[in-house]
Amino acid sequence: MTCATLAKGLLDLEVARARMIAAAEPIRGEEFVALDQAVGRVLSRHLVARLDMPSIDNSAMDGYALCLAELGERGLPVVLRVPAGAAVSALPEGGCARIFTGAPVPTGADCVIPQERVTLDGEGRMHVSGEAKPGANIRRRGEEYRAGDALLPSGATLNPAALAMLASQGIAEVPVLPRLTVALISTGDELIEPGEPCLAGQVYNSNRVMLRALLEQQGCEVLDLGIIGDTAEALHEAFVVTRDSADLVICTGGVSVGEEDHVRPVLEALGGLVFHGVAIKPGKPVAFGFLDDGSPEGVPLIALPGNPVASLVGWQLLARPFVQGRQGRAVGPLQQFNVRAGFSRRGNHGRRELLRVVLDWQGGLPVAFLAGGQGSHMLRAASQAHGYLMMAADTDVEEGHEYPYLPAGQFVD
Ligand code: AMP
Ligand code: MG
Repeated sequence: MTCATLAKGLLDLEVARARMIAAAEPIRGEEFVALDQAVGRVLSRHLVARLDMPSIDNSAMDGYALCLAELGERGLPVVLRVPAGAAVSALPEGGCARIFTGAPVPTGADCVIPQERVTLDGEGRMHVSGEAKPGANIRRRGEEYRAGDALLPSGATLNPAALAMLASQGIAEVPVLPRLTVALISTGDELIEPGEPCLAGQVYNSNRVMLRALLEQQGCEVLDLGIIGDTAEALHEAFVVTRDSADLVICTGGVSVGEEDHVRPVLEALGGLVFHGVAIKPGKPVAFGFLDDGSPEGVPLIALPGNPVASLVGWQLLARPFVQGRQGRAVGPLQQFNVRAGFSRRGNHGRRELLRVVLDWQGGLPVAFLAGGQGSHMLRAASQAHGYLMMAADTDVEEGHEYPYLPAGQFVD
């Protein structure tokens, strides 16, 4: 069991992240998928180039290919026409070729003059205005990389540009790691699903649709167990089911220390806790542990808070890097830069606070303003925020001062 020490009190955010990332065992296995099905998938092997890139010397412009040494006062007759897709040809001595972007440069030519700098006289001879340099406007064979050179490392996520590069190599199928299957459990007796009538005291399940979307954006297969009631027995049963069918379990709610909060004791009974409680606001009651399934590692379980904004922040800062690690991907540090605050606010929570803010660009510089209500249940501001101002514990925001800003874009693939 990978369960380590149980932290006393609240863990520092960076410590909690580091522990989770260190515990994220990359998923094993390999499958081959067609390139047009591979966006977001993770390479299981290093890929090397099959072809020189470009594979032939070709023109970077629509224009005229010639041998510069042959260009004199009288210009050159146009003796050849080379469109893209033509076979490689030889330039007859004393002549030039009409050529188009991507077409193979004829042997014997050492320069392409863009058509905008060329005039044709009455005899059909080509004259060049301005300077011409050997090699100009020719994309040389292998100038980007050679066959056998590294293209992408194992663990790379296949984004659209990567797929385009693989296509340019003629690669039709790629070896990727299996998708991560993540079980999702929403705990809470008060929860009902959108579309159902709402009785007094009931609460629509926000976390389920949010986490499903986040997991799917992350390229995970979601095994959705829906809503589980607030009893230790129901939770125990759900954990046992997911332990045997998922690579990771994520649950929301029931992870505080109230009488109705059963996640921690059930997790401890079925495996073990690595930590519970991180010094962030929102997101304090995040817990991380393993369900014992008889394997050396166990099945990891991340318990996110019930309050939806706390759940979102817990996902972004802690669960997502763990998922990335499990997916075999490299996990980068949090991206942050300083931004000026356009508001003042007291901070006295003993935790790092992530304020949901929008940026207003004033004179070309960003200024952060609160996106709306900051309660951990207030989804409207969270849904409209551009990012977070990350305030150190017990630090007031003073208008005009600069604070670390985390752009929300970094949490989306
Ligand atoms: P808990 O952590 O279970 O004590 O829940 C904290 C707060 O979050 C309570 O107000 C719950 O009603 C609310 N909550 C828990 N789970 C969800 C959910 N899936 N969607 C919306 N609100 C939730
Ligand atoms: Mg609850």
